[in-house]
Amino acid sequence: MQKKDLDWGNLSFTYQPTDYSYACNYRNGAWEEGGLTADHNITLSEDAGIYQYCQEIFEGMKAYTTEDGSIVVFRPDLNAQRMADSARRMVMPPFPEDKFVDAVKQVVAANEAWVPPFGSGATLYIRPFMIATGNVLGLGAASEYQFRIFVTPVGPYFKGGEKAVKLTVPAYDRAAPMGTGNIKAGLNYGMSLYPTLQAHDNGYAENLYLDSKSRTYVEETGGTNVLFVDRQGRLVVPQSATDSILPSITRRSLVEVANYLGIEVDERPVRFDEVVAGDFAECGCVGTAAVISPVAKVEAEGVDVTFPDSANGIGPVFGRLRDTLVGIQTCKIDDPFGWVVKIV
Ligand SMILES: *Cc1c(COP(=O)(O)O)cnc(C)c1O
Repeated sequence: MQKKDLDWGNLSFTYQPTDYSYACNYRNGAWEEGGLTADHNITLSEDAGIYQYCQEIFEGMKAYTTEDGSIVVFRPDLNAQRMADSARRMVMPPFPEDKFVDAVKQVVAANEAWVPPFGSGATLYIRPFMIATGNVLGLGAASEYQFRIFVTPVGPYFKGGEKAVKLTVPAYDRAAPMGTGNIKAGLNYGMSLYPTLQAHDNGYAENLYLDSKSRTYVEETGGTNVLFVDRQGRLVVPQSATDSILPSITRRSLVEVANYLGIEVDERPVRFDEVVAGDFAECGCVGTAAVISPVAKVEAEGVDVTFPDSANGIGPVFGRLRDTLVGIQTCKIDDPFGWVVKIV
């Protein structure tokens, strides 16, 4: 297999069509067979549910090449499960979880030439998503849907790669209490786009959102969960009383890795005033795209907090966690959990 002629070390986090996508339609109350397609466009009725009432959900994962030349993905069963949860909340038909994992394998294998080589720092980003394709007019759920996966080779998510980033606390909210903040629905990202662009314009990588009910507790950023390390070296994992934090697979994996390494884990609501008081030595943004991005500072009106151990790059505790998780993901160290799924 001949790899595509791309500048693998200098890819940005942008879309380019590859050879194949995967598509499967839901009609007459059932999912059809589905399969690969070389057509990267979708043509829909102007009255499709996606256009009118925003029935869309998605997932994000990546495939990469390990040192021995295998192509693998990380815990695709959890993406399948989370997407089914998202579907139920959006009154969409859940895509069968085993069929999801099989579709991911098919589409990655068919685009083997697009999977960045080992050591390039790049990965093949996998974007499963589902949209309402059937017509709706009165407010209601559509009766037809498409599940689709495209893949695209990407470089690092945050520009500047390993550099520690700055966050700010916006005046806006990301998710309503008991709303849709705990599922991956496109509508969450539409509503946070304006404050996200404002943050970028002001030199911040992301917004750190507080809980919208009391504006007291730390929730997460627009696209990643947030973790802390306290002064005692414990991993502190913010919990939401209003169920509005997205259940990040990276975060859940890091908690299991911390337990495995004997690092104490404290999962609890985290007040923003603890952050302001300087109770935390390290802070990191965690998600599939960046794994852990060290956070140097949080700045807001009257707030200027530096995390001393992650101010100049990844700190000691997150460094250990990231090295172990990335080691497992890249098969450099044995996978004690059975998380890595080989495709080719
Ligand atoms: C996707 C996402 C994450 C990260 O989840 P992973 O499963 O680790 O990639 C965190 N927060 C939000 C809001 C997200 O959309």
